[in-house]
Amino acid sequence: MRLFDLSGKVAIVTGGNGGIGLGMARGLAQAGAAVVVAARDEAKNARAVAELEGLGARALAVAVDVTDEASCRAMVERTVAAFGRLDILVNNAGINIRKRPEEYSLEEWRLILETNLTSAFFCSVLAYPEMKKAGGGKIVNIGSMMSIFGASFTAPYAASKGGIVQMTKAMACAWAKDNIQVNAILPGWIDTELTRRAREQIPGLHEKVVARTPAGRWGTPEDFAGIAVFLCSPASDFLTGAAIPVDGGYSVQGAV
Ligand code: NDP
Repeated sequence: MRLFDLSGKVAIVTGGNGGIGLGMARGLAQAGAAVVVAARDEAKNARAVAELEGLGARALAVAVDVTDEASCRAMVERTVAAFGRLDILVNNAGINIRKRPEEYSLEEWRLILETNLTSAFFCSVLAYPEMKKAGGGKIVNIGSMMSIFGASFTAPYAASKGGIVQMTKAMACAWAKDNIQVNAILPGWIDTELTRRAREQIPGLHEKVVARTPAGRWGTPEDFAGIAVFLCSPASDFLTGAAIPVDGGYSVQGAV
């Protein structure tokens, strides 16, 4: 058994067309997996697939809205129709709307919870029978520093990302006997489209993140290739239910 080899494995990465998702998709592709890029923007999906094919991987674009039940079902069906199996699911699609708690509409709350948390639940449930059939599988959920901390402008986002950690533990317990490992990654502050908007909205954010992060920099999508390969490969077969910060030390910084 080659510890980090994903040859012959089939992976879905939701939100795999950019940012952290594409960083993880590149890692999985380089380790030998066939990768399904599953997100809404078809032009971005196509660009990501071309890039993964350029790395020598098999790849497929599937337009999906993870808040839509039928769309999620079709994503799993198309994956199995194209590649014959499903071994790996990375629940990465996510959004944020930054406001004080009292300013959110119920509709905004629901959209964030559905995109970030409910979708991860439902896609995992859809993937489960395919993974069982394949003799095992790997599910990777994406949390956040807001899985651990709070902030005045993140009530629904923090609720969704805290929920990701607890859901990960529950699914890990439920599916361990099926040889399915379920883990979460908690990214620190990473330079993507999501946080580009945060930097515009929160004055001084860039400098504060650099100062607070022991590594002294923002993370990049490339920082997620290695952890994705590890959590999706035989190297992590006895690791399940964990929430692993990939944050340059942000969550262990005790100095003020
Ligand atoms: P991006 O905005 O770059 O990526 C978000 C991805 O999610 C896009 O590919 C987007 O594609 C997809 N997406 C959003 N909504 C939907 C939907 N309804 N259906 C399908 N796909 C959807 O952000 P990041 O790469 O930064 O974020 C990726 C994950 O990492 C998120 O879960 C985020 O919460 C988390 N995270 C990010 C951090 C950071 O600092 N950047 C820190 C902690 C966590 P499309 O628009 O085409 O649908």
